[in-house]
Amino acid sequence: MQVDPICGRKFEAAPGTPSVEVKSQRYYFCSPRCKEVFERRAERARLGHLAKIGALLSNGKVRWGIA
Ligand SMILES: [Zn+2]
Repeated sequence: MQVDPICGRKFEAAPGTPSVEVKSQRYYFCSPRCKEVFERRAERARLGHLAKIGALLSNGKVRWGIA
């Protein structure tokens, strides 16, 4: 049983399930959309202090990071 870290949905990982490996930990997602959100957040975290600003703004409506 996997838990989607983005939406919290529980599901069985199957071949083709979207997943990402971060620091030798694999995360599974219920949909490519959740994977996208996760990757966007990971990218933001790599931006150091900018991530803090992102956290302050992340009330679910601010979606910066999209080109
Ligand atoms: Zn999800």
